[in-house]
Amino acid sequence: MNIKRTFVISALSAVIAAGAFLFISATNDDDVPGPDEQNFLAESTVVYVTKSGKKYHLDGCSSLSRSKIAMSLEDAVRSGYGPCANCHPPVLSLQLTPESKISAELYRVNRENVASSVRADLSKMVQAEVVHHVDGDTVKVTMVNPPPELKALETIRMLGVDTPETVHPTKDVEYFGIEASDFTKARLLGKRVYLAFDWDLRDSYGRLLCYIYTEDGDCFNKTVITNGYGHAYTRFSFRFRDEFRAAEQEARNHKRGLWG
Ligand SMILES: [Zn+2]
Repeated sequence: MNIKRTFVISALSAVIAAGAFLFISATNDDDVPGPDEQNFLAESTVVYVTKSGKKYHLDGCSSLSRSKIAMSLEDAVRSGYGPCANCHPPVLSLQLTPESKISAELYRVNRENVASSVRADLSKMVQAEVVHHVDGDTVKVTMVNPPPELKALETIRMLGVDTPETVHPTKDVEYFGIEASDFTKARLLGKRVYLAFDWDLRDSYGRLLCYIYTEDGDCFNKTVITNGYGHAYTRFSFRFRDEFRAAEQEARNHKRGLWG
């Protein structure tokens, strides 16, 4: 009896000790990825999010819906998603340094602390020509002598704005989608434009994420929203988020475009 109890206590102590050891190991420096490993992890690890959720997941997690969206761990963390408690995806503990990966030749409104979209400096932006129009928020541009991380031909997904779908492979044409698409075509196709950037250079499809400025100094992304051809896409953080939100509210108040 006494021996048995001693054995149980010993076993319990051993388990507690092992647990404590594991805990110490897990918090030991050896097991915390260094900066290089963190960066590698951030870029190379694919995690999944859902349209309505606030967490990121590993593939196969039961919390994921069929409409899961793949993105890098870095994008997920920077977009404000937290790790799921069920599937335990990798966690980044260090600050990300996206700036270091983007050359100084790109004009970035977050880094320059541009106060509003009307204050942006066209003379610092990359010039491009719109050669193809995809839909209300997506166009293709060409550039002569593009900066190192850009290609001569790029597809641009306009930052901070979402227009109704017209060309989605699995969705029907949405209300006001054609009008939004025609508006962008009429204003941009064949025109010289100026590109400004923010946090993320590209989306998960490899499209450039930027603000498109027209020669009159107008931020076209905001113009789309102001005229009611799209709504402010505020799921992810961007410099002019509050401004774009206000532009959408104004369009709604005046029942412009898709709010009519
Ligand atoms: Zn999960």
